[in-house]
Amino acid sequence: MSSAPGAPFPPALVRREDLGALVDALRAEHTVIGPTVRDGGIVLSEIDGVEALPAGWTDIQDAGRYRLERRADRALFGFVLGPMSWKRFLHLPSATLWHAERKNGTFDVRETSCEAPRFAFLGVRSCELAGISVLDKVLLGDGRFDPHYDARRRGVFVVAVQCTSPGGTCFCASMGTGPRARGGFDLALTEFLAPRPHEFLVEVGSPAGASLLDRVPHRKAAPEDLRHAEELTLGAERAMPRALDMAGVREMLYSKIDNRRWGEVADRCLACGNCTMVCPTCFCTTVLDRTDLAGRAEHTRVWDSCFTLPYSRMGPGSVRASIASRYRQWLTHKLASWSDQFGTPGCVGCGRCITWCPAGIDLTREIPALRVARDTRVLAKDTRTVEKPS
Ligand code: SF4
Ligand code: SF4
Repeated sequence: MSSAPGAPFPPALVRREDLGALVDALRAEHTVIGPTVRDGGIVLSEIDGVEALPAGWTDIQDAGRYRLERRADRALFGFVLGPMSWKRFLHLPSATLWHAERKNGTFDVRETSCEAPRFAFLGVRSCELAGISVLDKVLLGDGRFDPHYDARRRGVFVVAVQCTSPGGTCFCASMGTGPRARGGFDLALTEFLAPRPHEFLVEVGSPAGASLLDRVPHRKAAPEDLRHAEELTLGAERAMPRALDMAGVREMLYSKIDNRRWGEVADRCLACGNCTMVCPTCFCTTVLDRTDLAGRAEHTRVWDSCFTLPYSRMGPGSVRASIASRYRQWLTHKLASWSDQFGTPGCVGCGRCITWCPAGIDLTREIPALRVARDTRVLAKDTRTVEKPS
């Protein structure tokens, strides 16, 4: 069935047994990245067919807790989010920026090519679309230009999946980033399960999406199909287990610089940096320079975290020597100074930092705790001390 030229793109229904044709059509032109089960979790990886999707799995999540369980059905997207975000493919954990080689008594320096695969991302949730949009602002907005990010981001074909059931740590509804994706995709799937036949409502968000759908067996969706899809995401919103009241958060955080609550969090925080690694928007990096005795050198950018001591090292030592000051930096940046820098909060409510924190530290609990923490005495001298050089 073809969409009429020039017409708005009407939604369609694709049967479960025809979803493989959609993945194959994506694979004909793209490197398809999607969810799959590996090592007891759902990870994002290259997908070579619909069989690679996590059929019949769901994820159980809470603060500091994640496990996969079998579902009673064969839902393909019956889980929410694994530890890996799409950042992994757009803003690489490790990217060599240039190589140098000693030649004829001088150094020949060559920038690394930014060439990247033509990606299709299959299964992007609404909060993740918001996360990509935040990264776009950070890495490409307002005079900033990261050529490696740009090369990987440009032309990504996005197949979103609408959330019909929230994860245990989700709070996208209060961040205004979900659970329903309203744009930013080429195609968006809503999975229909029993008592309805197993099929997918497909919303079309771009001419490229319409063109791809034309290569997949489908039929026209009826208004009741659209209503059913809306009800499913509304149900996910109502069932969302966490919320974050963002009203006045920026001013509140700026007014609590010396609050004793930071020290109470620091007593639990291990400064492991998990929260920043799993976050779809954390973008901090450092560089590593390697040389060898043959006269070669390379300059590599790698992810870093504001929870590490070396991250704030300047001159005589690290300016954020205590864990309290590092947690304060992370949370205040996410929910206050990020908005000053980029015009949007740095949090999209995906809940990963809560799930993957080994101490179960939960920003949706810390913000209310900070709001009521009236005592503004300096908790500990080291929230502002400089680490002594060893
Ligand atoms: S701060 Fe936490 S909840 Fe917010 S986007 Fe990052 S990982 Fe997700
Ligand atoms: S808040 Fe949790 S995940 Fe983040 S550094 Fe501390 S212990 Fe690690």
